Amino acid sequence: MEMIYEAHEHNGLLLNANESAYNADPIIVEELVERIRNSALNRYPDDSAKELIDTYARANHLDPAGVFVGNGSDAMLQLMIHTFCRGDKKLVMLDPDFGMYRFYSIGMQSDHADYKTAWDGSFDLEDFVRFAKENQAGLVLLSNPNNPTGHVISRDEMQQLAAALDPIILAADEAYMDFADQSVLDLAQKLPNLIVTRTLSKAWGMAGIRAGFLITSPTLAAKMAPYKIVYSVSTLDQQAAIAALNHPEIAAKNIAEIQNEKKRIAERLEQMPWIEWAPIEANFYSIKTEDMEDLEKAFVDNGISIRDYPDHSRLRITIGTPQQNDQVLEILEAWNPENWKD
Ligand code: PMP
Repeated sequence: MEMIYEAHEHNGLLLNANESAYNADPIIVEELVERIRNSALNRYPDDSAKELIDTYARANHLDPAGVFVGNGSDAMLQLMIHTFCRGDKKLVMLDPDFGMYRFYSIGMQSDHADYKTAWDGSFDLEDFVRFAKENQAGLVLLSNPNNPTGHVISRDEMQQLAAALDPIILAADEAYMDFADQSVLDLAQKLPNLIVTRTLSKAWGMAGIRAGFLITSPTLAAKMAPYKIVYSVSTLDQQAAIAALNHPEIAAKNIAEIQNEKKRIAERLEQMPWIEWAPIEANFYSIKTEDMEDLEKAFVDNGISIRDYPDHSRLRITIGTPQQNDQVLEILEAWNPENWKD
């Protein structure tokens, strides 16, 4: 089966890709310009990305020998699938989950098996373990919090899952974990079969540079190393990522803003019994209601890009600035079926 990736839209108000609403702070931009001025752009980038990986490892108390950086965490997802899903070893994933897992698996000509979860993303852990074993998983990969449901698997449950799956590799894609508090990043180098991926594209507001991290034990890292593309993170990306990581207070400010908005959005949604919504854990929320196709059209008519799905089962809406969120909430409030009655 061939799949062509269509990049998301860049028109109107962009609440479709879970990016940060805030452009990089001038402090970060100044630091990155200074860093680039001092870089040897005539030379290939440092393939080991030593300064960047050391910066990341230091900030997170990690052994740099088990940390990779890639051209976005997307590149890290591809690396894992490439390494661990060969021959009859499948990628086992949840459905729904981040669409690129399936895309990379198909691109690598490996098989994948999808485990269907409830609309809100919940599922039975034991049954999922049985499913993974039955399907000869080479890698179990899931996003936590889940994109698009927002469902969070607790830290305890992730530990149980890793233990039950061992020696199958469990990868937790924590692209959105900066907005929740159940990270297993600190366990990625302690458990024998755990991999965690993180990104600067969401809470850190740096999707325009491409920098994502993979964290695991040095043993598993050594297995993946031969499959890594060389020079895939440019000098510009590396320097920009270091500049961002040197200012965690800016990411913290943006995260705090999103957390406030999460509460405010939840309070408003509670007043709208015509909207079904899952608990808001990440920097987006998933909703459904009657007449989904008309609602999708209402967003288009208002110049707002949100993420819809071919089966119209949900809309996934990125949390933006308070004013942007109000624009969305006003559309949802107007969707009250009472308004349509004669
Ligand atoms: N994982 C998940 C769950 C995502 O939603 C995304 C981006 N939408 C990514 C990974 C990829 O992030 P990036 O390549 O920008 O690091």
